[in-house]
Amino acid sequence: MVPSLLISGSLVLATGGLFHLLENQRPLEDIDRTKHLKFDIIVVVISALMVAGLTVWLLDGFVRTWLLNNVQLFDSIVSQPLWLRISLALVIGDLGYYLAHRLMHTSPLWRTHVFHHSIQEIYWFSGLRSSAMNSLIIRLPYLVAMCMFAIPASAVASIAVALGLVNFWVHSNLNISMGPLNYLFITPPFHRVHHSMAEIAIDRNFGNILSCWDYLFRTAVDPSAELNVSEKGFEVESNQVIRQLVGL
Ligand SMILES: [Zn+2]
Ligand SMILES: [Zn+2]
Repeated sequence: MVPSLLISGSLVLATGGLFHLLENQRPLEDIDRTKHLKFDIIVVVISALMVAGLTVWLLDGFVRTWLLNNVQLFDSIVSQPLWLRISLALVIGDLGYYLAHRLMHTSPLWRTHVFHHSIQEIYWFSGLRSSAMNSLIIRLPYLVAMCMFAIPASAVASIAVALGLVNFWVHSNLNISMGPLNYLFITPPFHRVHHSMAEIAIDRNFGNILSCWDYLFRTAVDPSAELNVSEKGFEVESNQVIRQLVGL
């Protein structure tokens, strides 16, 4: 348990450091990474503590047990190689994320998500700013998919770390393109459009790992230099911080 936590922690720190250096080399826009850093460190720690408690007690406890008994697929599927089951679970979980994220942009779930849309200086670390409710809701689709394909708990823990690194990637301030693969995978410029306040970008680009869902369901807007530097982030009133951080 302790060695795996150390390995995961080192991997997360090393990846954060790598994104920091890459952002220096190829920034998408001029931003001030230190402007809201103190605020973000405080809210990320508080949110992580709330989510960690609820995850152990609720998601990894009752919810996982119920799902394993009720949504697991046929033996013929569950007996397939682990790499294949993980790949299928990630695709299905990612579709679930897309749908959950679209729902969170509608009332009454918007209150669980608005805190994430208060980020104004977007870079790899700032993407961690989200309410506790938001963090729980977006974990659910992946958890359901992992239980459908009977992915072992040890692999689920590694996938959770990998999804954290995906969060760094999509929020990084990186001017990068993957060519035709942009229509399959989310890039930092694509997700940056999701945070734009420009009218054309409102309720667009919901995906997490795969951008094909947005293209399939016609919610995709291709990134442009103009959209990437457009205004982002709602102001959070000081008396609303606690409510938004919890997400209720
Ligand atoms: Zn959103
Ligand atoms: Zn985001």
